[in-house]
Amino acid sequence: MGNKAKTFNQNSEISFDEEHWQKINFNTASFERNFNNGKVNYRNMELEKQRAFNLSNKSLLNLEKLLVDFETHFKEHGGEVLWARDSDDACDLILKLLISEKARKVVRSHSTIIDEIGLNDFLQKKNIDLVESNVSRYVLQVSGMKSYHPLSPAIHLSKEEMNDVLTRGFKLKADSTPKQMVNFVRHQVGEAAKDAEVCLTGANFLLSEEGGVVLTENEGNILKSTSKSKTHIVVAGIAKVIRSMHELSLLLPLLSSHATGQSMAAINSITFGPASNSEGPERMVVILLDNGRSDLLTHEKQRKMMSCIHCGACVSVCPVYKNIGGYAYDSSYVGPMGSVMTPLMHGLKEYEYLTSACSVCGRCADICPVKIPLNDLILENRHLVATKKVGDAKLEAMFKLMIWHCKNRKRLDSPLFIKKVELKRFLNPAWGERRTLPEFAPKSFSQWWKEQKV
Ligand code: SF4
Repeated sequence: MGNKAKTFNQNSEISFDEEHWQKINFNTASFERNFNNGKVNYRNMELEKQRAFNLSNKSLLNLEKLLVDFETHFKEHGGEVLWARDSDDACDLILKLLISEKARKVVRSHSTIIDEIGLNDFLQKKNIDLVESNVSRYVLQVSGMKSYHPLSPAIHLSKEEMNDVLTRGFKLKADSTPKQMVNFVRHQVGEAAKDAEVCLTGANFLLSEEGGVVLTENEGNILKSTSKSKTHIVVAGIAKVIRSMHELSLLLPLLSSHATGQSMAAINSITFGPASNSEGPERMVVILLDNGRSDLLTHEKQRKMMSCIHCGACVSVCPVYKNIGGYAYDSSYVGPMGSVMTPLMHGLKEYEYLTSACSVCGRCADICPVKIPLNDLILENRHLVATKKVGDAKLEAMFKLMIWHCKNRKRLDSPLFIKKVELKRFLNPAWGERRTLPEFAPKSFSQWWKEQKV
């Protein structure tokens, strides 16, 4: 078992924490409730999902052309496009841009891809001040924590815990209401971000034909930050590109209905390069990030994962996520989508254990707005782990031993103590300390059968 797998097992121990379980289940249930309420806006949601599936497949098949066209058209609007091979590359490019802008303070939006490249830690080491513009993320930053859920980064904190962080960090009064806390943090964020020279965001979609960047949000932080900063840097995965803005009428409602149950998010903006007047950034740069996405695209079945629109619905319904929480995955992508993407993007051997973080219940695939068959893809990953022999060697040895045993009647009837030793030696580490190993029957079936006949 590798180090990451051991850490995963240790972090998963949180599933025995009753309070954690209650918080996560209470909060994810509200996402499910919202989604079910929002479903009524659709006459035939399945049909829309199928259309989205077809469109995204088409985009993936033409990805190369769509990306080049996006670059051409975005540059025509005065924007700049840079390509990053991996996280280090992306961080270096961002640093160079910040140096060229003489920026000492940067404001960022809530974006998983910015987490993916590890930008917060990177900029901290370079003594560049990075301010979170999202309310929950700001609280997490103050308390030194990372995001727990793609939509609700502080889903694991109760309002009392939030209050506690703010009371300790800013001397907010101890029994503040959620509204008071949100207003207080909003004010703090506004103050901290007001003189930021550069704004960093992800992108929900990139429009190939029009050369536009689509950003969708509810709080209004992105719009506020981009309109005040001199430079806007966008970090976007290469699979974010779609053909044209005509596809948004299908994709944006699907995204918001599956994310928050809204028919549309409160604020949706499309930016076509730098502003032509003083009301927006003078410079706009899009960094197109690969970081393992090309590797994922080489897998014929799993490449469907690249259609993900990051609604977070699969995470909110996943029984494994609801038990082990967001930190166990050790990745910015958690839940079923993380279990498919992370091993293929960042190393099958290193992250093979994530292919086991699934009960194959299929709820993720049922809810996915772009019909990604997540549970099937996790099974495909398991198959890859087995065929490439990168799984847990002890577990593999155990299965080989079991097969060897089961293939022969005499071996099946071997003495009880031998079977017990084998079970303890090979299965126990994977079984975990909290579960009692199953007991063998005192007699094998054939021994028992013989006795019955006598
Ligand atoms: S895999 Fe599907 S359900 Fe999960 S985040 Fe992506 S689009 Fe949403």
